[in-house]
Amino acid sequence: MTTWASGRCLCEAVTYTLSHRPLIVHACHCRDCQRITGSPFVVNAWVVEADLALAGALERRSLSSGSGKGQELSTCAACGCALFTRYLLTPPGTVFLRVATLDDPALAPPDVNIYASARAPWAPLPDAARGTFDGYYDMKTVWAPDSLARMRAAALAAASA
Ligand SMILES: [Zn+2]
Ligand SMILES: [Zn+2]
Repeated sequence: MTTWASGRCLCEAVTYTLSHRPLIVHACHCRDCQRITGSPFVVNAWVVEADLALAGALERRSLSSGSGKGQELSTCAACGCALFTRYLLTPPGTVFLRVATLDDPALAPPDVNIYASARAPWAPLPDAARGTFDGYYDMKTVWAPDSLARMRAAALAAASA
């Protein structure tokens, strides 16, 4: 398998490789992400789950989310470092990987700022080539066509698995 990027938790009990670039990268400024991360915003790479090869023991927690549908946060079972989130609202077959856990976070700069209306007034707003949105956005107009195609294929594969 090709490797586009690699990453790990703080204690190195969990390591991973990602075989392809993300579908899109979100900088989310919502209050939930602020609380969960203890920082002004989270940077999440939306990736195809099948592209992510993980090694090591994970712990999963069910949390609330802005959509009301909830999210499942996966952390290292040993050190508690958060690695990725599955939002129950989003199509199956994809997860949100914490960009800061990449060995080289420079690979995945934010494409969009979302929930910018909830931004901490003292926090910087990252440059985001595909736009800054007060809330969420319309995927069909914001996403690159090949990312939309990859997401549909991942959702179909996950549904038939
Ligand atoms: Zn760890
Ligand atoms: Zn958020």
